[in-house]
Amino acid sequence: MAEVHNKEVRSYNMSRIRSKNTKPELLVRKKLYELGFRYRLHVKSLPGKPDIVLNKFKVIIQVNGCFWHGHNGCKNFKIPKTNTLWWEEKIGKTKSADLANYRKLEELGWSVIAIYQCQLSKNTLDFTMNGLKNSILSANTVKNGVKIS
Ligand SMILES: [Zn+2]
Repeated sequence: MAEVHNKEVRSYNMSRIRSKNTKPELLVRKKLYELGFRYRLHVKSLPGKPDIVLNKFKVIIQVNGCFWHGHNGCKNFKIPKTNTLWWEEKIGKTKSADLANYRKLEELGWSVIAIYQCQLSKNTLDFTMNGLKNSILSANTVKNGVKIS
């Protein structure tokens, strides 16, 4: 049992280390760039060091792994049968940290869009990117009743 736990902790730690510049994140960045969007990455001065920051549109995009960020109702998110409580706690903490950061960012006037890894499969990528593009363009056009763009 302890052996399994250790392996899980190890791969958890490794995945945390690699949580920047993940494959799904790189894919979203590439597609955004092709669509003509320019952005800053992992901005340290903002809560939670958000992945992708589009200053011009006041939009932040977070690219989340389905498992680590506990994507509700997603087939990629199943709590392991061993050490269940440990996993629930870990993922629960990640989720509440995510939400706390999103709230802080929104208080600072940013719109936050969270994209999940499962939305970036071959079959869903175009659909997701299209929706993302529309969301970015319309995110802050009307704020406090004043049209910005
Ligand atoms: Zn998912």
